[in-house]
Amino acid sequence: MRFDVVTLFSEMFSALTKWGITGRACEQSLASVHLWNPRDFCTDPRKTVDDRAYGGGPGMVMMAKPLEDAVYGIKASHQVAGIKSGPICLLSPQGEQFSQKIATDIISYGNLSLICGRYEAVDQRFVDRNVDLQLSIGDFVLSGGEIPAMAMMDAVMRLIPGALGDGESAAQDSFMNGLLDYPHYTRPEIYENLSVPDVLLGGHHAKIADWRRQKSLELTFRLRPDLIATARAKGLLTREDEQFLRSL
Ligand code: SAM
Repeated sequence: MRFDVVTLFSEMFSALTKWGITGRACEQSLASVHLWNPRDFCTDPRKTVDDRAYGGGPGMVMMAKPLEDAVYGIKASHQVAGIKSGPICLLSPQGEQFSQKIATDIISYGNLSLICGRYEAVDQRFVDRNVDLQLSIGDFVLSGGEIPAMAMMDAVMRLIPGALGDGESAAQDSFMNGLLDYPHYTRPEIYENLSVPDVLLGGHHAKIADWRRQKSLELTFRLRPDLIATARAKGLLTREDEQFLRSL
């Protein structure tokens, strides 16, 4: 999976490319992150990427030309590499809310270009001419698109086959089967007078699987009833699941 990221702050991405599961995915070439600084595409000596807003108002606006030239640079490098360019995505609080489902869809594109906004906004003409989709990581405003881009890339990289080690599995993560994850425990068996549930100590695999499924259902029912409704509509709940939910 290839990511091309247009950003004024490329150093920030070492948090993703150098550490943990995402760092390992990059090291093993399961994922690659190509960083493009719009300043490199400026022709003026001051490398200007922003200017005041027409109509007045606070804050600066990112100019269309350096961003668009960075996008042309990405597309040209895709051509050289012999790959078809995937969608161009702008990180934006106005975008569609990012989700596990979107992360799964992104894997199938093979490559994705991410535009990290800064300042007050990005010139709308850049958006109209170049952007295929806009994604948000939630109803709050951050100072730039870098953290949202890294959050999304992390979610996508976890799904690349081989990115997780043997003991890890994205399939068991929250949302993958439409439900929240079940509770987990590790040593010691008793911590501050609290014991690990007996069923997890018995080694009976079918009983452990049933307990985990029920805990997933219970947690989802209590914390995110909307997810239960969606899972039901998608036919993801069994007769046993429904029976258990009725008992809650
Ligand atoms: N004035 C903009 C608004 O109210 O929608 C906010 C601009 S914000 C300070 C600067 C940049 O941060 C945005 O262009 C976007 O790229 C990024 N950003 C901020 N919050 C975000 C969010 N919740 N999801 C995705 N990107 C976000």
